[in-house]
Amino acid sequence: MAEANIPHIAIIPSPGVGHIIPLVEFAKQLVDHHRFTVTFIFSGESSPSSAQTSVLNSLPTSIASVYLPTVDLSDLPSTAGIETRISLTVTRSIPALRELFSSWSSEKRLPAVLVVDLFGTDAFDVAVEFHVSPYVFHTSNANVLSFLLHLPKLDETVSCQFRDLTVPVDIPGCIPMTGKDFSDPCQERNDDAYKWLLHHAKRFKEAKGILLNSFVDLEPNAIKVLQEPSPDKPPVYPIGPLVNTESIYANRNDESDSECLNWLDNQPLGSVLYVSFGSGGTLTREQLNELAFGLAESERRFIWVIRSPSGVANSSYFNSHSQTDPLTFLPDGFLDRTKEKGLVVPYWAPQVQILAHPSTGGFLTHCGWNSSLESIVNGVPLIAWPLYAEQKTNALLLAEYVGVALRARNNGEEDGIIGKEEVVKVVKALMEGEEGKAIRTKIKELEEASVRVFKEDGTSTKALTQVSLKWKAHHY
Ligand code: UDP
Repeated sequence: MAEANIPHIAIIPSPGVGHIIPLVEFAKQLVDHHRFTVTFIFSGESSPSSAQTSVLNSLPTSIASVYLPTVDLSDLPSTAGIETRISLTVTRSIPALRELFSSWSSEKRLPAVLVVDLFGTDAFDVAVEFHVSPYVFHTSNANVLSFLLHLPKLDETVSCQFRDLTVPVDIPGCIPMTGKDFSDPCQERNDDAYKWLLHHAKRFKEAKGILLNSFVDLEPNAIKVLQEPSPDKPPVYPIGPLVNTESIYANRNDESDSECLNWLDNQPLGSVLYVSFGSGGTLTREQLNELAFGLAESERRFIWVIRSPSGVANSSYFNSHSQTDPLTFLPDGFLDRTKEKGLVVPYWAPQVQILAHPSTGGFLTHCGWNSSLESIVNGVPLIAWPLYAEQKTNALLLAEYVGVALRARNNGEEDGIIGKEEVVKVVKALMEGEEGKAIRTKIKELEEASVRVFKEDGTSTKALTQVSLKWKAHHY
């Protein structure tokens, strides 16, 4: 609960575990190191999923939560993209948010600051009405932020579909990208998902500041340019990597989690490849088969978090569990063939604990930004297998520019399948090849840097102190 003399910060995470997790870590920093009180404001089209509930149950009592009434999205077509669904969830919650701010105002406990993520910029209207400073917490990296800040200009100057841009686009501070490396909603400019992304990107400049979940050593060029003062963008504060390091999910009393961690305890040091596609990623049936055959033929140890196949890569985004047991989709005999070397975990695994475990030596990931950071802070090298959202950009950044990932290449055809031979090749290269060694060295350097940035004089500590002093000055 907010107290009169302690500055109060309100945070609206848009739906999705990948947004909630870093914002919870951010809230903990504000409470533990800067003596703010924090209230989370949740919006949703249904009650929170089990994964979200476990995150919310882990909130310290110093962090309050308010749940706005659920919104109705039944008028949306089933094909609506996640960017559209997420944006509309927040946008349709605005009247309820206004009521909440109004009651806070009459109780004289309005927040000093309202923080939203990429999809919550419409909440700025309420913040401004109540003289509360609007901020963005960007849950992805600095390169994606540079891209988004530049997107309105690209939209004005490029007339074709971005995917037809074969010459790399020059965006200050950002890695060179051709159109196909742009985030998923940018691949079809006529789709509502793109229109929403553009809408939020345009509103970014209304924020008083943008907090960034990245750190200087990871993206020096992009962050340098973002921090140059400019009338076109608000100040940017690189305060990451904010990742969950405690046991939000892992619980050795939970049967599935303890099976996973006990199994890891019995594997040789650095020998296990962890395979997971985030909170919502799914593969097609054909792709699932190729991955299964590839893992089996690689003869390397693995933990694979498996979901039922789907033609839509983010079909589990709002709920990681499905009606049908995903294990029934595995090729015949797969579990028997791999039982000495592999563990298949349906739906959900204690990822942070797996990545921190000494037996884990690699991570085949969809390159969600939280997963990428969790791997970096644990010094675990990556195989990049992007699926949706901005993951293609992240994969390009991590593999070609930061040098901490190998790319799993697809067959170059329209179906974009990554064949079993490629899986075998890239798994072996990561776990024992020369290339794997080089990226292991690089990611270990970044692991050390990720600790340094949180020392007293570290860059992320300083950036958060700078913004928190600004917020306190606003309050008193
Ligand atoms: N996660 C987990 N267990 C799983 C799958 C995901 O704990 O089986 C967590 C993971 O540690 C990360 C988050 O869910 O913190 C996923 O966020 P990310 O940005 O990587 O991807 P998204 O799900 O948003 O695409």
